[in-house]
Amino acid sequence: MPESVPCSGCAGERFETIYEDCEDLWVFVPGAFPVVRCEACGLVQTNPRPTASELKAYYPDEYQPGGSPPPDNPMGSSAPIRWLRWLAALPYRLRWRQGFVSGLEPGRALDIGAGNGTRLSNLDAGGWEPWLMEPRQELARKTSESLGIPGDRTIVAYAEDADLPEEHFDLIVMDHVVEHLSDPPAVFNSIAGWLKPGGRLLITCPNYGSLESRLLGRWWMGLDMPRHLFHFGTDTLSRMAAEAGLVVEDLRPQYGVLLTSSVVLRRGSKQRTRGPLSFRAVGVLERAATFGAELIVTAAQPFGYMPMMEVVFVKPEVVPQRLAPSSEAIHS
Ligand SMILES: [Zn+2]
Repeated sequence: MPESVPCSGCAGERFETIYEDCEDLWVFVPGAFPVVRCEACGLVQTNPRPTASELKAYYPDEYQPGGSPPPDNPMGSSAPIRWLRWLAALPYRLRWRQGFVSGLEPGRALDIGAGNGTRLSNLDAGGWEPWLMEPRQELARKTSESLGIPGDRTIVAYAEDADLPEEHFDLIVMDHVVEHLSDPPAVFNSIAGWLKPGGRLLITCPNYGSLESRLLGRWWMGLDMPRHLFHFGTDTLSRMAAEAGLVVEDLRPQYGVLLTSSVVLRRGSKQRTRGPLSFRAVGVLERAATFGAELIVTAAQPFGYMPMMEVVFVKPEVVPQRLAPSSEAIHS
């Protein structure tokens, strides 16, 4: 049975329902869950939510964290399609050619929820000392083996339970992880301890406050129900981190995630690969629309449109004063 929990942000117990009965539209595991907003602090969350043991069924092997494109991605990767994508991403490249990490002096980096290690492999190549945290034991073993990360830098644990030295890391990364945590404030507190003063926390996650989320409503892919227990906006994420003493340094769209199109379109096109020609023709139109939406979203990101966000937090050098939530830097 799904469990009702108090708000993780403020322990409040009164919620306003936003969407009822949201289903798993990614791997189609049965079940229906509501998206609600805490009346006291505004944090949007999945509640009642699956228990920890129920959640395991929603993470089959083919579920790849970090927003990999659907396995049945209709447009394939033919050369013209790749060029179109490259062109659409050009404005982004011109504005943010330097990745965030490339601007930092390499040091010790921890990837929480490292998955198959894409991020760590890039950090490793950039001269960082990679540390890996991943709760799925087999995946953790494979990833650390393939990257040559020693056992003492491989932590098989959920972030909520992990025990690491204080002031140990220059950089901690959570790529599409924070929205899956059962207790994000506790993890922010731990991270604030694990970071050296001046250390950075890099988070990528869907932006619930985005225009796309509003347009697509319960069909927005960024909800990824019920695996996403929290649906952060720039405001609620910044506020939660601020309560742990972490300050927003940079906030920008995350580039390169294809989670931008509507699940409705994907689902429709999946069902229309068979059947009479007219039926399949509708499928082709839907695929074209999905692909068109992807190009538009990619090209729009440099102008502040961000269905997926990338936020850099810094742990202040000086012991943090309690900071008020940032009222600036709120974009869709
Ligand atoms: Zn609350």
